[in-house]
Amino acid sequence: MRDKVIPYGKQEITQDDIDQVVSVLNSDFLTQGPVVPEFEESIKRWTGAEYALAMNSATSALHVACMALGLVEGDYLWTTPVTFVASANCGLYCGAKVDFVDIDPNTYNLCPIKLEQKLKQAKLDGKLPKIVIPVHLCGQPCDMTAIARLAKEYGFKVIEDASHAIGGQYKGSPIGNCEFSDITVFSFHPVKIVTTAEGGAVTTNCKALAERMSLLRSHGITRDPAQMKNAPHGGWYYEQIDLGFNYRMTELQAALGVSQMNRLNDFISARHKLADRYNNLLSKLPLVLPYQLPDTYSGLHLYVIRLKLNEISCSHLEVFEKLRASGVGVNLHYIPVHTQPYYQKLGFCHGDFPESERYYSEAISLPMFHAMSFEQQDFVVDALEKALI
Ligand SMILES: *Cc1c(COP(=O)(O)O)cnc(C)c1O
Repeated sequence: MRDKVIPYGKQEITQDDIDQVVSVLNSDFLTQGPVVPEFEESIKRWTGAEYALAMNSATSALHVACMALGLVEGDYLWTTPVTFVASANCGLYCGAKVDFVDIDPNTYNLCPIKLEQKLKQAKLDGKLPKIVIPVHLCGQPCDMTAIARLAKEYGFKVIEDASHAIGGQYKGSPIGNCEFSDITVFSFHPVKIVTTAEGGAVTTNCKALAERMSLLRSHGITRDPAQMKNAPHGGWYYEQIDLGFNYRMTELQAALGVSQMNRLNDFISARHKLADRYNNLLSKLPLVLPYQLPDTYSGLHLYVIRLKLNEISCSHLEVFEKLRASGVGVNLHYIPVHTQPYYQKLGFCHGDFPESERYYSEAISLPMFHAMSFEQQDFVVDALEKALI
């Protein structure tokens, strides 16, 4: 038994990160200063998107993204069941109805074939979605070409939930460039690839969407005379022209983000080294290892294995608990959203999305973070070998 549990994910904070945050503390602005725009520039540079807006979380980012795309009561939002609840909740915030599309058994992402089948039926029923949110689970990019083609054919908008995927690529272009979507959302929670403690961002190439999301981020208030209804009364003047929120990121958070973004390349390559090592070390065990969609590069937020339960004598729960007991902080991403009590109350049932539920009954997230040592990784592999007996 180790004295310290190896977590499934963990931030890496350097002296440089600390220095940058301290310098903001000593500056004139703790919020609404120059560092948030600097962080937004670094996201734009990385993704190649025309607009980037930092928010206080990805949950807030998803909310304003849905609002900017006009999601209202009576509309439908579709996403995958295998995601964090926030990817679905944003639809409910807008008064829309939420529905799910089951996952692909190999990528664990929203399945484009099932999406097309469901769209065909929804068209007959007059219940086509206004927004579909594909989630790049574990950092693995979704099949965005197929989704974008269906978006065109059936007239829905696409928000990529890239909370797991900053630093990844789809067909040679960076996740977040919105080549195949209207808006992309990132999360900077500490377990994610880049952190600002709490934080999120949206990217888009559409000026009107960027302006609307910027307005909603800060109370629906504008100081731009071009957007005002009346002539400004004086230098103090602002107008509230929409009902927005306070979803702003602080300068402290942005300073951490700027500093972390400088190391994003290193973060991703460290994760790939670890994943390659896991792939080798685990290849002979009764497990399904992560599959990689061709022509994509994962951000590798998570390394998820699936147990071949018919080849081992213990249960999923037993393997999980043995790993936890031996000091390996495994986790499970995710409990299918439609099986949550809140969603069951909305009418969803166990059995509605069988591929997602099967995934849930076999999946375990092994520790994966860029500062993880090979020694820690060997310990995880050793514990897993023992747990499978
Ligand atoms: C973490 C996460 C979110 C929410 O991010 P916050 O920044 O914590 O609000 C949304 N979607 C997915 C897929 C996530 O993993």
